[in-house]
Amino acid sequence: MSIPLATAASGLVTDVIEFSAVDGPGNRFVVFLQGCNFDCLACHNPYTINLCNGCGVCVASCPSGALSLDDAGSVRWDAGVCTGCDTCIAVCPYDATPKAQQRPVTELMAQIRRAAPFLSGITVSGGEATQQPQFVESLFAAVKAELPRLTCFVDSNGGVEPDVWDALDPVMDAAMIDLKCFDDEIHQHITGASNAAVLASIERLAARGKLYEVRLLLMTGVNDADELLAETGRWLAGIDPTMRIKVIGYRAHGVRPSAVPLVEPTAEQREHYAAVLRTESPFELLVI
Ligand code: SF4
Ligand code: SF4
Repeated sequence: MSIPLATAASGLVTDVIEFSAVDGPGNRFVVFLQGCNFDCLACHNPYTINLCNGCGVCVASCPSGALSLDDAGSVRWDAGVCTGCDTCIAVCPYDATPKAQQRPVTELMAQIRRAAPFLSGITVSGGEATQQPQFVESLFAAVKAELPRLTCFVDSNGGVEPDVWDALDPVMDAAMIDLKCFDDEIHQHITGASNAAVLASIERLAARGKLYEVRLLLMTGVNDADELLAETGRWLAGIDPTMRIKVIGYRAHGVRPSAVPLVEPTAEQREHYAAVLRTESPFELLVI
């Protein structure tokens, strides 16, 4: 996946949340970027995975007439008419959205500036934000230059080349990394990609003091076996025995239908996952 339209000056943005308490420490301005290099079974925002190909299927489905096809075969979205019903997303056969827009850094900065008195920082998420590395770098650089009090975080699937982390390092405070599974075969089954780059990202960021937390999304009977969790905990403890780990129970809301329906772990199962990890190391554990 490459994002052909993303540059240092502007990025393909799915959405923006001005105030979020769940995307890193404190109150954060979150920029969701369109496009992902993984294709996760349990993705809660599957419409952020691919880029719109202009097929036009969604245009007729819009009850508000907010969508049209231009002469170049691209879909145009009229934000002023859109009611946010998301019918277009529901009918898109390609896990895309017609509402992703090119947003200049300057325009986002104007929005961040207005919200800044109430913010702890900004987070780029997705999709996979690191698929638009130049844009992220220049957005973070603009924040650091004008609003240095705000921290700059990346929320990532970890499938990131080392040179991208190197480029972001001077302007990025920290990253939150999803580790979908320590077993590579299972990881490939649930994401479509190897976990090699994810593990390397965790090691690289931790060595630089830029790993804020690792998230473990656990699905009953898929990636939650005790021995696998213990092995995961031992590996993470070898990197940082007090690492902050968020144990997240899979939730079905928003995911695509799966050939084999995924099962949500119970509250007791989620606490059991944390207990297994705790036997390996005194991690800072959060269970949600
Ligand atoms: S958003 Fe989906 S359905 Fe609509 S034009 Fe793009 S690819 Fe086709
Ligand atoms: S969310 Fe999509 S379908 Fe609904 S009004 Fe907006 S453009 Fe139309």
